[in-house]
Amino acid sequence: MAFKDIIGHEIQIDILKGFIKKGRIPSCLIFSGDSGIGKSAVALNYAKLLTCGDVTDNDCCNVCVSCKKMDTFVHPDLLYIDDSETEIKVDNIRKLEDFVFVRPYEATKKVVIIDEAHRMNQSAQNAFLKTLEEPPDYCYFILVSSAPDLLFETVRSRCVHIRFKPLPIFLYETVIKAKKSSIERSIFSICMGRPGYYLSGKVKDDLEGFFSCLADMKGGEIKEKWGSNDEMAEWLEIFMIHLRDMLVSEITRSQAHCIISNEKKGLEAKRILELYNETLNLYQKVDMNLNKKIVWNYVREMIREKV
Ligand SMILES: [Zn+2]
Repeated sequence: MAFKDIIGHEIQIDILKGFIKKGRIPSCLIFSGDSGIGKSAVALNYAKLLTCGDVTDNDCCNVCVSCKKMDTFVHPDLLYIDDSETEIKVDNIRKLEDFVFVRPYEATKKVVIIDEAHRMNQSAQNAFLKTLEEPPDYCYFILVSSAPDLLFETVRSRCVHIRFKPLPIFLYETVIKAKKSSIERSIFSICMGRPGYYLSGKVKDDLEGFFSCLADMKGGEIKEKWGSNDEMAEWLEIFMIHLRDMLVSEITRSQAHCIISNEKKGLEAKRILELYNETLNLYQKVDMNLNKKIVWNYVREMIREKV
């Protein structure tokens, strides 16, 4: 894969190509945006372009030894830190330092990609900051993150920030079809322009968790069932999509795109919108360590109104 094969994100790719064309390549970039929209793919292709042995038309050739090694993550001048399940610890950053301060082996540049970089814990971010203060001129960093606000301000201020958006619906559908996956309408809408999320198995688990919590709330369960604030945020996200679908269905009198097609109980559009805004308000506060029990009971009361 090269930049020309990536579907969507044209503006972001143009910016990246512009850096290289002008010879003004930032030493550290942040790629932010929802998870599953293609940030990591763009990051890897940018790394390929920086190290390719036969750049053509400001894109990597995709066939040279360097490109092939990058694709399989075995290039000695690429360090890819991907520890999305747990936190990224200071040990990971020590390895990064060992990598960074040795000159490139095969390419003229070295690239470090930290996926879900906001998972660096405090000591890791402190250690990383030191590297970032005086990076060697051959080394380039890309911090990929769906929650860049969790990175230290001192880290963010040393980076050029590139923001990624979910794909428009027709491109999102094209990516899934290009991966030879069929479109399952029941989960398509809840993935909201995030093909990576659609193609992962996670979406079905999330939906199962959503229905299970919804049933508990309807049954009047007072003990909250979310394992973490992240889980709560995902639940609220799906709930908002549900409310949005209800609203569309109420206005268009069709249930074609509803994720919960039989749930509509005749709420007026105005009330659905109010519920949506109340949920959005909660969702926007999740990062402020919102108490899960309070949110659970609040939403449970809302749901009593026959959502
Ligand atoms: Zn190449």
